[in-house]
Amino acid sequence: MSQNFVVRNEEFICTNCGKTVYKHPHSCRDHCNYCLHSLHVDINPGDRLNPCKGTLIPIGFRIKNQKDQIVYKCQKCKQLVFNIIAPDDNKSLLIKISSIPWSV
Ligand SMILES: [Zn+2]
Ligand SMILES: [Zn+2]
Repeated sequence: MSQNFVVRNEEFICTNCGKTVYKHPHSCRDHCNYCLHSLHVDINPGDRLNPCKGTLIPIGFRIKNQKDQIVYKCQKCKQLVFNIIAPDDNKSLLIKISSIPWSV
């Protein structure tokens, strides 16, 4: 792996759980579908311009504009990030984080 953590619908090895995450069936892969962790690489979705590169920890769940989103908090810069769930995301983990009250 290079230092560039390529998450836009390409296979990658999750830095949190070490599993190989395969391409999203029809959209962008922006988080690990096993442990739901991600990396803080975008300023706007997909641009990979964020120099932070901190680990995004899933802390909750919300529905915005009829889209289910995972709420992340960056371990490094503490910013909140929202990613739309993927169809093959770990369902039991999604249920678990959806029961956690989160706040800004
Ligand atoms: Zn993972
Ligand atoms: Zn960050």
